[in-house]
Amino acid sequence: MEIIFHPDYILHKQKGTHPERPDRLIEVMERLDKEDLTEDVIVPEHISEENLTVVHTEEYISRLKSHPPGYLDGGDTYICESTYDIARLSAAGALSAVDISKKGKAALALLRPPGHHAGAGYGGGFCYLNNIALAAAHSGVDKVAILDFDGHHGNGTSDIYYSDPGVLFISTHHYGIYPGTGEAIAIGDGRGEGFNVNVPFQTGVGDSSYGFAWDELIEPILSDYKPKLILVSLGTDGHYSDGMTGLSLSSQAYIEMSKKSIDLSQKLCGGKIAFFLEGGYHLNSLAEIIAGISALTEGKELKLEHTSVYDDNCLGRQAVERTKRALQDHWKFY
Ligand SMILES: [Zn+2]
Repeated sequence: MEIIFHPDYILHKQKGTHPERPDRLIEVMERLDKEDLTEDVIVPEHISEENLTVVHTEEYISRLKSHPPGYLDGGDTYICESTYDIARLSAAGALSAVDISKKGKAALALLRPPGHHAGAGYGGGFCYLNNIALAAAHSGVDKVAILDFDGHHGNGTSDIYYSDPGVLFISTHHYGIYPGTGEAIAIGDGRGEGFNVNVPFQTGVGDSSYGFAWDELIEPILSDYKPKLILVSLGTDGHYSDGMTGLSLSSQAYIEMSKKSIDLSQKLCGGKIAFFLEGGYHLNSLAEIIAGISALTEGKELKLEHTSVYDDNCLGRQAVERTKRALQDHWKFY
């Protein structure tokens, strides 16, 4: 698996004590190094502003660029001196990842700042530019599936592609927390109807429910859609050690979902798959999940620490069933 990372990703800083901090990537890179998984690290080059306006509005890009140090939104997404440049470099990493994945090689972009809460004309939730949406647009591929496994709903990505059947968006998330969107009945609009899939889980949902969602919903829809490229918004804040959501996923559940995604990409689209880091604020679980995913494709297995299973009885079954009902006219379920 090729890893994309730029040392300058740690230069962007939120104000004061903040969960989305440079230590996240420092810890991840140290862990990868320790496990001998940093052989294939690719450093992205800067991209031009034209690469951003394929997804974002020109007004928003000018606003970001000229924004003085201060908050972009209500108080959790701060712009420091280097934020615009580093957000652009994060987007550059996303474009490199998709270029690599198109050659049939799995790519893992370890990005800061994250992107999935940024829409065409807004930022928020620690996000400025939507890395994965930019990657999908840059790919030039007419059938892209985006899987969003972050614990929060990927509202920005969903908004950007809500009426576009060329991008199938599937998000599993804790519903009722930030950003408040992501209900099962939000299935897309116009020509994009049916191509927006939300699985809104309640507090406590974890391993067995995600397995059920994969088998009953995600894999059948992907197999029916037949994407030519799979992109994954990988946020590890659904982990039970991570206080940012109330989900209870273990490290092995995250690694297993990633493995299933890679396996399915090999079956459906020649192994064209790229992962993009979104959230994940508990440093130790974040680092072990990233290292575990990276080790997968090297045929290595890591010894994991965070392996407790809190949901072994499919707590989220009804949420999955509701989503299936909302989409029954659009997809073939087994
Ligand atoms: Zn998140």
